[in-house]
Amino acid sequence: MSVIAGVDIGGTKTKIGIMADKFVSTVIDTPKDAQKLIDVIAKTLHDLAGEIDAVGVGVPGAVDSVGRVSYMPNLGFRNFDIATTLSQKVGARVFVINDANAAALAECQSGGFTDAVMLTLGTGVGGGVILGGKVFDGKFGKAAELGHIIIDVDGKVCGCGNRGCLEAYASASALIRRAKEEMTNNNHSALWKLCGGIDNVDGAAVFAAAKQGDVSAKSVLSEYIRYLSIGVVNVCNIFRPQAVIIGGGISNQGEDLLAPLRAECERLNYGYVGAHKPALLAAKLGALSGMYGAIAFAKSKLSEA
Ligand SMILES: [Zn+2]
Repeated sequence: MSVIAGVDIGGTKTKIGIMADKFVSTVIDTPKDAQKLIDVIAKTLHDLAGEIDAVGVGVPGAVDSVGRVSYMPNLGFRNFDIATTLSQKVGARVFVINDANAAALAECQSGGFTDAVMLTLGTGVGGGVILGGKVFDGKFGKAAELGHIIIDVDGKVCGCGNRGCLEAYASASALIRRAKEEMTNNNHSALWKLCGGIDNVDGAAVFAAAKQGDVSAKSVLSEYIRYLSIGVVNVCNIFRPQAVIIGGGISNQGEDLLAPLRAECERLNYGYVGAHKPALLAAKLGALSGMYGAIAFAKSKLSEA
């Protein structure tokens, strides 16, 4: 049996797991220096398993088709050839995948789907597309940037510099930003009492306040769901997947998020009458999805070779 490791590099923490006879894993701090990062990953892999056949690495950045990371915005690494440097260090094949794609692959497999799209709602909006059981990443990599599909031509400025990207409306950060605006405009919002201060607002608080009937929270939330549903509808119309999986902390709201989303999708999707409807689901694997997906990706690449 092959020994396959998964590494999920995050902005502050890096998760490392190894699938052999049994599953072992650990979490380390992510060094802010590329060479140090490679060194500490190699050492941790060695300590955990000794001999390894392949490593899958999920990274928060744009990956090209041969595993070079052109840009990792949160860590400031540019043109970082993780596949080659780590492979030389650990003496195993290394396959690099964008972290959102890795999470999508893991969630897709765990849900028993072959065709699914995942949207991760966090600081940004991560996208992952799995078609026929494989990660769809475009001929040259860097595909499935679903957070940057433009849903409002003259809309809000996105972190990428364009206007009107889905991410500027449907990320967790966007929800929190809108809630803060509402609080500033309305001293009577239940959000004040619920959060104790404007800096403590999070996505869960907006859902909780809306449930209590708070008018400003309800309006922020319905606007949020409306924009998110536009993104989901676009994705459904392009890929017609078996499922759209929503990840990130906001997906913990379950049906409070999914039921109104489904209703909007029913209303807006092209040709839904009598047609197969993609399932709209919350992600199940939580924070470990990136690492599981990195392992699944390495496994699939090994079997292709
Ligand atoms: Zn953008």
